[in-house]
Amino acid sequence: MKNGAVLTIGGKSFRRGERGHVDLPVGRLVSHAELNLRVHVIRGRRPGPVLFVTAGVHGDELNGIEIARRLVRRNYRGLTGDLLIVPVVNVASFLLRSRYLPDRRDLNRLFPGNADGSFGSRIARILMDEVVKKATHGVDLHTAAAGRINLPQTRLADRIEGSREMAKAFGAPVMLKAGNREGSLRAACEKIGLPYVIFEAGEALRIELPAVTFGERGVRRVMRGLGMLPKKSKDQDHPSAYCLGSNWIRASAGGLFRSFVPLGKAVEEGQVVGMIGDPFGKVETEVVVDRAGIVIGRTTASLVDEGDALFHVAQSKASPERVEEGIIRSAEKVLPEMERPPYRDSHAAK
Ligand SMILES: [Zn+2]
Repeated sequence: MKNGAVLTIGGKSFRRGERGHVDLPVGRLVSHAELNLRVHVIRGRRPGPVLFVTAGVHGDELNGIEIARRLVRRNYRGLTGDLLIVPVVNVASFLLRSRYLPDRRDLNRLFPGNADGSFGSRIARILMDEVVKKATHGVDLHTAAAGRINLPQTRLADRIEGSREMAKAFGAPVMLKAGNREGSLRAACEKIGLPYVIFEAGEALRIELPAVTFGERGVRRVMRGLGMLPKKSKDQDHPSAYCLGSNWIRASAGGLFRSFVPLGKAVEEGQVVGMIGDPFGKVETEVVVDRAGIVIGRTTASLVDEGDALFHVAQSKASPERVEEGIIRSAEKVLPEMERPPYRDSHAAK
């Protein structure tokens, strides 16, 4: 049973109502320094779901780490079930301020891992055995990869019962059906039938308060949705537009790139959303939308090669305009004045 009277992680036992942390030894680094995986364990007095929250699977994705840090600092009076928080899964790449492990591998391609495998593979195995498999639900926090930025959004596995409900409860402006990526934490969760949601927001190596606020509140809404915390009436105020597919608009020329649309913007087929200027001459190439949708991610680069991914556009059942309205509304409701992202004004300095 996953929510028994005693929960043991890394050989340390926690009774209901207890909270604390465990440092799981992963191995030694080149400097002989020992690397640990810290797991915070917060147990409610009543049995219920066991939710894991992981961040820093990619060591340069700081928004999730800040969300996890804020979640660790909270009180959970009246908690039903258990919360397992791992603020930095990939400590080795965190030290390098990098997405990748010291051996250049991506931890999120090494799941479910192997106790006798590479350094990253061992981290994956320990996380699976000591955290994921002891949970009933999971939230994994990410940002866009370096050089890109994401609108706050959730990714979910349609195939697993409960995953979509979690994403709905999370209440990010957009939820996107996730593709299957072999070796990822989400693929490992799917293999064992564990409902999970991935939150993606902002860019690497930065802490962005709008993304952090969305994420922290989203995790707490998921907890309320699962019955771990008392429900709030305003939980219904954050509808997510469900997007079944998405595509990237790529550069059809190399040069200096200017974007005309912000994240969260509805775009229509044929719309010019950016321009690529030839740095040595007078040639300007338009960046044109090939499929209507909502901009959920884009490059942060100003220099692009032909073929580079520029805008990530998602398609929902609702019209893109309605989704855009929802994004603006949810930004206004969720975020205090200072933290509101500039969804309304496009950086459209043509
Ligand atoms: Zn990531």
